[in-house]
Amino acid sequence: MRYARGVRSFVLGLAVLGLVLAPASGAARKPKVAKDKQAVLDWLSRPETVEEFGRISDAIWGFAELGLQEFKSSALLADTLEKAGFKVERGLAGMPTCFVATYGSGKPVIGLLGEYDALPMLSQKAREPKKDPIVEGAPGHGCGHNTMATAATAAAIAVKQAMETYKLPGTIKVFGSPAEEIVASRPYMIRAGLFEGVDAVIDNHSSSGFATDYGVSGNALFSTIFTFKGKTAHAAGAPWVGRSALDAVELMNVAANFLREHLPLTHRLHYVILEGGEAPNVVPDRASVWYYVRNTDERLEEMYQRVVNCAKAGALASGTELSAARVLSAIHQRHANKAAAELFQANIELVGMPAWSEEEQAFAKALQKELGAEQKGMPSEVGKLEAPSRTFVGGGSSDVGDVTLIAPTATITFPGQVPGAIGHHWSSVACNYGSLAWKGLNAGAKAIAASAIDLLTKPAELAKLRREFDEYSKTHPYKPFLPADSQPPNDLNKELMERYRAALEKALAAEIK
Ligand SMILES: [Zn+2]
Repeated sequence: MRYARGVRSFVLGLAVLGLVLAPASGAARKPKVAKDKQAVLDWLSRPETVEEFGRISDAIWGFAELGLQEFKSSALLADTLEKAGFKVERGLAGMPTCFVATYGSGKPVIGLLGEYDALPMLSQKAREPKKDPIVEGAPGHGCGHNTMATAATAAAIAVKQAMETYKLPGTIKVFGSPAEEIVASRPYMIRAGLFEGVDAVIDNHSSSGFATDYGVSGNALFSTIFTFKGKTAHAAGAPWVGRSALDAVELMNVAANFLREHLPLTHRLHYVILEGGEAPNVVPDRASVWYYVRNTDERLEEMYQRVVNCAKAGALASGTELSAARVLSAIHQRHANKAAAELFQANIELVGMPAWSEEEQAFAKALQKELGAEQKGMPSEVGKLEAPSRTFVGGGSSDVGDVTLIAPTATITFPGQVPGAIGHHWSSVACNYGSLAWKGLNAGAKAIAASAIDLLTKPAELAKLRREFDEYSKTHPYKPFLPADSQPPNDLNKELMERYRAALEKALAAEIK
């Protein structure tokens, strides 16, 4: 019920969107904006545009589809782009939920990235500042990917209209990128040649701030499932006959946990056991464990080999066989382009932080209180472009990393999540629906579209990005970590999604009338 109340108040909030979506301050001091750029900003500012894409984002939030199961989410985005006049190719690079939408022809070619997958176990009611799942255990949008592909789609359509009106040269492409949460699409999309000929890429991510950055960040990663084969036996009657595959998994994990002590501090290493037997009285003849092995580009492969050795040790000690080490994906760190970030920053400052309503501030503070965070509400200023930190201590990963090594790329992070909300957690899911998310993704779409207009119309600006990229590529040529025989893990989340899809649809139909 609280959820339904949240929906009503956000619809009410819509009535004033026209007022509150104007830049917060400083409009008078801003430089004169070119006509084509002003056109994309004006179109994105219309309340009906805000609502159209807000509803798309909310729909994807409701689908809450896991990586490579984003059938409804990708279709909604691809259909929206197709209706707007883009040529859409679907089911690319061996992934049914991957698409590329293209408008225009010739150079320059500007790419926008869009992600739309959810995370497992995070189901949560919208705008509810306490943990309260819609369906216990079901997936949820705990990283804001519902807003992200939507922002890229809105921006691309705005740019297409300006290209028509002002006869701008070039091509705009939206790369519908599945499964970012399992970092599983971009290396395959690059391998399939989808990014060939792209001159620059505008990435985006949902955040609590409105900012961009450059330099090396995040960790490179191997995502691998290790499977062991043993022999069944009566676990009490004649256990000496059996060879436990679960023992192999446990021995591997013990070895990997001892390994941590002797790895450089930039590493991250974590796993979940996917199969560990069916019943205690049958020695399991099959078990598997899924590892994320993370480190810098320079340290990743050596660390990965040491983890593979832990798997071999588990098999040897348990008398089982390491029957498979299936690499689902392997990715690079992000190497974001400084010239791109500088260009994006100017547009972020032009767009400005959205003005938040009292209701949105009240929700933000209630959530901050619940999480024990400072109750400062939503931010009022956009971020500054700062030099990257010189001390790298490791962290999360994104398969955008591989894209940054094949074309000049930087990320626009846009607001919408409450400062203090925790990533990959119910508190982020609570933020990513309704007016707060609508305003954030709209601000993001404006910065993306304005940056795309600059790259299409200012060859000298684009040349700066390209020069920096070409120079960097001399010392950082793209060499994929992804093994040549790896295939996209289209099956990985199938069962899990099937378990929750119907229950989620039913619960949402009851909540949103
Ligand atoms: Zn994310």
